Amino acid sequence: MIDLRSDTVTQPTPEMRSAIANATVGDDVMGEDPTVNALEEYVAELLGKEAAVYMPSGTMTNQIALRIHTEPGDEVILESEAHIYYYEGGAPAALSGVMCRLVKGDRGIFTAKDLSAVTRPTDVHFPRTRLVCVENTHNRGGGKIFPLEEIGAIAHFCQSQGLKLHMDGARLWNACIATGISPAAYAKPFDTVSVCFSKGLGAPVGSALAGSVEQMQRARRFRKMLGGGMRQAGMMAAGALYALKHHQERLQEDHDQAKILAQGLSEIPGIVVNPADVQTNIVVFQTPDRAAPELEARLLEEAGVAVFAVGAHSLRAVTSLMVSPEQIQQAVSKIAAVLS
Ligand SMILES: *Cc1c(COP(=O)(O)O)cnc(C)c1O
Repeated sequence: MIDLRSDTVTQPTPEMRSAIANATVGDDVMGEDPTVNALEEYVAELLGKEAAVYMPSGTMTNQIALRIHTEPGDEVILESEAHIYYYEGGAPAALSGVMCRLVKGDRGIFTAKDLSAVTRPTDVHFPRTRLVCVENTHNRGGGKIFPLEEIGAIAHFCQSQGLKLHMDGARLWNACIATGISPAAYAKPFDTVSVCFSKGLGAPVGSALAGSVEQMQRARRFRKMLGGGMRQAGMMAAGALYALKHHQERLQEDHDQAKILAQGLSEIPGIVVNPADVQTNIVVFQTPDRAAPELEARLLEEAGVAVFAVGAHSLRAVTSLMVSPEQIQQAVSKIAAVLS
């Protein structure tokens, strides 16, 4: 099978497995796991924040960010297709008791002006608007990069309104490799940033939240409350540390392969995709004459190519270290054969 469903299917390389096997560990809930501590320090440094907390998943990381910035009844502003809103099981309502107010972006990217149009003044009738979230790169937006300039304008607006700003940076590493902008430069305008190690970086488990010491103390409390306090978590943190040190640069290969894939797909009759829209490792393509869920099933059954339907007529293919350049070429011809 050529697995293009997600960059979460990545498995640890032999070198990563050996780093995991040799990790020094301790009880992390007691703050005694040296590998987790090293990872948290390294992430904080990379993101230019005071502190970071290792978490079991990106979902928990984002949801704890919402929880530390809000109280029940508050309002959070999110882009209409944001992962936090779309793919996290209704957690903003269940875990933080917040309302989500949505702003419609262009493939996930919105402007300070869009934001000001939905922000409400202080009034006893309205929920208190507390937090704005930005997703970079944007998953449902097809891996689109949030321009740093627009983030600056959004942060400026948030400061003027006393709003906190959180980045869902599950794929921040991809945005950094694609633009040459450092993680710290991207993180600077944000109060908190979440990052994933288990996507394209290829670590088996884990994410982190970064922010101020005070915020991270609060985050640690909610992590424990939600059952995310892990003991000898250095076994997993070692994979994340290895991934940060050895797998960031190689993300460029995934981006190059995604472009090649989009180019190949764009030449298949019945598929609509503009290769110029592909900025990182996600290719979203349209099949106007075919239902995407059916096509997803047929591609797997008849061609052994796994992709995800993400809309009625749109599908997603993601490149990662699990897929070789040869497999990308094969995927294009196999998909073409199914569609012919
Ligand atoms: C994958 C992802 C997450 C977190 O996912 P988990 O599977 O919970 O680790 C968060 N945000 C975005 C944009 C993602 O793509």
